[in-house]
This record gives sequence, structure tokens and C-alpha cells, in this order.
Amino acid sequence: MDNQTFIQQKFAEFYEENASKIEAPSSISQREFGFMVFKENVMVRHKRFGTADALKTFIKESAPAHAYHSTAYYETPEAKMEDKGWLGADLYFDIDADHIATKCKEIHDSWTCKDCGFAGKGQPDVCPSCGSKRFDQRIWPCDECLDSAKKETIKLVEMLMEEFGFSSNEVAVSFSGHRGYHVHVTNEVIRELDAGARKEIVDYITGTGLNVSFFSSAVGAFRSSPETPVYALNDVGWRGRIVKGAYEFLSSATLKNLIDLGIKEKRANEIVLNKEAILNSWKREGPWRPVRGVGKEELRTIIDHVIGVQSVKIDTMVTTDIHRLIRLPNTLHGKTGWLKVSFPFSHIDIFDPFKSAVAFKKGTVNIYVEESPKFRIGDEWFGEYKKQKVELPTAAAIFVLCKDSASLVE
Ligand SMILES: [Zn+2]
Ligand SMILES: [Zn+2]
Repeated sequence: MDNQTFIQQKFAEFYEENASKIEAPSSISQREFGFMVFKENVMVRHKRFGTADALKTFIKESAPAHAYHSTAYYETPEAKMEDKGWLGADLYFDIDADHIATKCKEIHDSWTCKDCGFAGKGQPDVCPSCGSKRFDQRIWPCDECLDSAKKETIKLVEMLMEEFGFSSNEVAVSFSGHRGYHVHVTNEVIRELDAGARKEIVDYITGTGLNVSFFSSAVGAFRSSPETPVYALNDVGWRGRIVKGAYEFLSSATLKNLIDLGIKEKRANEIVLNKEAILNSWKREGPWRPVRGVGKEELRTIIDHVIGVQSVKIDTMVTTDIHRLIRLPNTLHGKTGWLKVSFPFSHIDIFDPFKSAVAFKKGTVNIYVEESPKFRIGDEWFGEYKKQKVELPTAAAIFVLCKDSASLVE
């Protein structure tokens, strides 16, 4: 039996028992559905279901590799794109480890150049041997990748609730089933926002185009007047975030940290020597006055760094695309065999994707692993493996098979 047939068979067995748990979106008959089918590896789109039961039956019978629904609501979801009659869309955010620079990728991800066959670790922009940009990549999720995605998710949800004013029951969080998290906002007002308005939200969340001149008389054209807002460590929004972030950064910054940001050694030395005085002056309400060591250039460098740390690393395309398809909760991800799972935001600190998203809990499978890094399923660690035969619990075997890094041993 080939890998794809085996995986599909396992997916079918899973849905036979668990299709009833699939979470159908609200206003189901106004949604478009799409499925990636095994073998042909093609996307079937523009499907409509009148009821949640019809959707679940379809998934049970077809056992697709991926199942998606539109974030949008349409008059005629089954029509061609231009004839669907767009009625609105929920607001979605996708946080994927792909968009976060984690060092572990150098350990677990690998690539082979499609043009010259050169291979290596990590995720290169161009092949160092021939300059090609075409790669076969093996990308693996790990604890470090998913923890960093989780941190971004927490920043995002706090921003949505504290600064945008959404209530906790309007914001839903889920693990994507692969390398990150989805955040879903349902609210009548947000539904009708066009792509431009969603781009404004994205810019706020990513800290794009922030004007930092009001932070300091040293940085820009600050003119004090009775209406000029003062700011402090506990301010809400980007102002408070930058003040707090700069304060925290400098509190723990070493000479090396400052030089690494691009501050000249002489100035960095002065900053370290005058740290206490600088922090004290920042603690008082703004605007920040020039302090020995921190002139216009240094302050800008520190603020730019803080914006980088405090902004949320989202996939901006997902949020601005008002015709997007997004994975259905409690369906299987064809690249891992894991579930997309929703969970309450209040549980995010203890949420363990390597436990909660495990779908296959029975039996073992014999596979020949071409190559795999060390990985965890539940409390058990596996690998790393290289060109060897192993008997693995079904969840672990399916994970490596889905990654196309192993073959079935009969
Ligand atoms: Zn190459
Ligand atoms: Zn990683």
C-alpha cells in the first residue's frame, strides 16, 4: 500500500468515529467550503452545505487531506468567485512559526535545491551553490517554534481585547494543526470591513508606519502645549507599549545588546554608565528629554527595536484577504495528521498542542524513515531517525508519513 492510500484510510477511520465533533461555522449555508483531496492533490472549491450534518457526512465519506471554510459570508457560495455576492467576513489572524525567526529551524528544517541538488539545514532565501530559489523543503514543527507562536498569540489577543475592545466571547483561539495558531473575531461591526480597513488593523497590530516623533523632543518635532498628551509606563496602546518596552529593554541591556542594535560603542558605553539616570528620566512623564548617551539617533534605534519586539508577527495576507479559506476546527491537517483544535484563551498557558491535537491514539505502525529530527507526541520523544526501520505509535508514524519523510513497511 502506498503512503497516501494508507494515510487516507487512517483519516477515514478517524472521521468514521469523530466527524460529529467537527465544528461547523455559523451561518453555514452562506459559507464556501474547500477540500484538498488525497492522491490527485487538487483543491475542490466552491462547495456549499445547507446543514452541519451534510458537511460532516461529506467529510466522513471523502476523508480529505485538508478541509476549509470561507471566512466570508456569500449570497451564493457555490457560484464562481465574481458571482458569489460577498456579504461580509469574520476577522481572522494566522500566526505561523514560518513568520517568526526561531533558531531551532537550523536544527530541524532541511532543504534540497531543485536545480543543483545542493542540500542544507534551515530555510535559505537562495541556494548558496547556484543562486536558485526553488527548493524541496522539509519543515517540522517543534516546541520552540510553537512556544514562540503562542507568545505572539497572547500579545495579539491582549491587543484585541484591551485596545480594540472586543470581549472574550468574541475572540476565539485555536491551534492550526501544524505550526501555529488562529485567532477568530466574530462581531457584527467587523463583518463588513473591506480589505483596506482590515489592512489598517494589520498595520496597527504589526506596528507598521508608527510615528514615534512624539516620544521625545530629541527625536522629532515635539511641541509641548496644554493638549499634548503626557505618557507613562501604564499607558494603553502603542504609546504605553513603547514606553514600557524601552524601559524593560534598557533595564536589562548589556553593552553588547546595545552594540548589536547598531549603537556606536562610545555611545553604548555612555548609555551603560548613565543607565540609572536615563531610566529615572523615562519613568517620569514624557516627552523624553535628551539624556547623556541617548540622543536622537540612539533613541530611535531603541524605539525601532522595541516596536519589532512588541509588534505581533501575523501572516498579514490572511487578515486582509476577504475571500480567504480557513481550516475547519476538529478536522485533520494533511501535513501532520494532527487536529485543528479550539480552546479557551484562558487556557493558553497550559495548552500543549503536542497533546491536545493528537488524533490517532491506538496501535503502532512499521515505517522506514528517510530522515526525521527529534520530535514529541504527548509525553513521548521520538527520533532523530535517519534511513532506518522503526515501529512507532500510530500518531508518530502518521506524522512522519504526512511529512513525506518515510514509507510504509508492510
Ligand atoms: Zn542550487
Ligand atoms: Zn522549531
